[in-house]
Amino acid sequence: MRELLRDTAERAANYLEGLADRQVAPSDAAVAALDRLGGGLPKSGTPASEVVAELDALAGPATMAMAGPRFFGFVIGGSTPAGLAANWLAGAWDQNTCIETVTPATSRLEQIARDWLLELLGLPADAEAAFVTGATVANFVSLAAARHAVLRRAGWDVEADGLIGAPDVRVIVSEETHPSVTKSLGLVGLGRTRVDSLPTDSAGRMRTESLTLDDRPTIICAQVGNVNTGASDPIGELAEKIEDRNVWLHVDGAFGLWLAASERHRDQLTGVELADSWATDAHKWLNVPYDSGLAIVRDRDALRSAMSITAAYLPMESGARNPADYTPELSRRARGVEIWAVLRELGAAGVEAMIDRHCEQARRFAKGLNDAGFEILAPVVMNQVLVSFGSPRRTADVIAAIQQEGTCWCGITAWQGHTAMRISVSGHSTTNADVDQSLAAMIAVAKRV
Ligand SMILES: *Cc1c(COP(=O)(O)O)cnc(C)c1O
Repeated sequence: MRELLRDTAERAANYLEGLADRQVAPSDAAVAALDRLGGGLPKSGTPASEVVAELDALAGPATMAMAGPRFFGFVIGGSTPAGLAANWLAGAWDQNTCIETVTPATSRLEQIARDWLLELLGLPADAEAAFVTGATVANFVSLAAARHAVLRRAGWDVEADGLIGAPDVRVIVSEETHPSVTKSLGLVGLGRTRVDSLPTDSAGRMRTESLTLDDRPTIICAQVGNVNTGASDPIGELAEKIEDRNVWLHVDGAFGLWLAASERHRDQLTGVELADSWATDAHKWLNVPYDSGLAIVRDRDALRSAMSITAAYLPMESGARNPADYTPELSRRARGVEIWAVLRELGAAGVEAMIDRHCEQARRFAKGLNDAGFEILAPVVMNQVLVSFGSPRRTADVIAAIQQEGTCWCGITAWQGHTAMRISVSGHSTTNADVDQSLAAMIAVAKRV
């Protein structure tokens, strides 16, 4: 085992060191060679060292360099050194982190990471958090807690009796709600389209002036960090409108919530701490390995009521904080370990510096592209830049050519009637030199296409 792990660590280090110099997208030849990983179910075994060598030789070159400094697609961070190393160590520990008395180390790490995160993000210190796979599941978990709470206040036990025959629940979203919220609404039985959808402004923010609330149990799904523009809904204004009604305010803050860690940027999130639940990702802007997201819920009992299970063989009733009382999964990996490690590695100041650096680098991209004559479609308020290279057709062609050229990688998006390239700066290792190198490549490609 020792030799194998040493050899694997060497291979991983070589891979990471090679990222800065290789093309970001894999070559067609490397992707074609993936066929060699198949060829029918192996009849007999292979030594572990050969298995790893095969993965390294065949799959490694066909990876997208998402862990590298010039991947700007979606909103994808890499993994910090401590985050990746903690992931390996936690893999070796192999702790099924569902019951605290059985896996005390990793359960405690989750609790500590939760408390550190609540402080870092300025959220209520007594909120509870579910460590889940990502913001999609965090939205689902938050909405399950929301559904529990608004129906309990209406005299209905939704876990026991389901939604058939339950009091009507009104759901309010915005036109630019993330599709993972829409999907989650379907998963909790509230319906993907049975919603009141509020219009958005020219930056993609929910417009709240037309919003009226009544006495129905209501769930409002707001967001901080629009996937296209980075703009945030006015959470403080929404919270004020709720007063003492039976309304649950949920915030999808998959990446945007991390602005709360930045003194310079947190005014965009005014009132965010007044919400009832928050979904966020650690695998995006905090740069921990996949998969890692958090559902943070103010009313711990609502979360627990929606998620906990009991069974005779599970020692859940010890008074300890069992991670699985708060998550959809029972058996689960110890996601808190990497979050703990990255927060310990960076500290609050390091997280803040990374957030601020990425926002600065987004502005650097926008300025460079604007100076070269290309249109920036929305104000750059966070780590997102939307740029048009002309007609939708031309913009799509330029994006394809940039991906093909390989210096960097950015994706395509459609936003408020525009076709745009979306640049998201989220990787911990991205330097200003990477931004400048990518800008030069983008501009050269755009002039040639
Ligand atoms: C990425 C994202 C999600 C989904 O998160 P996953 O981790 O991919 O499940 C939800 N909402 C927003 C705003 C996002 O950016």
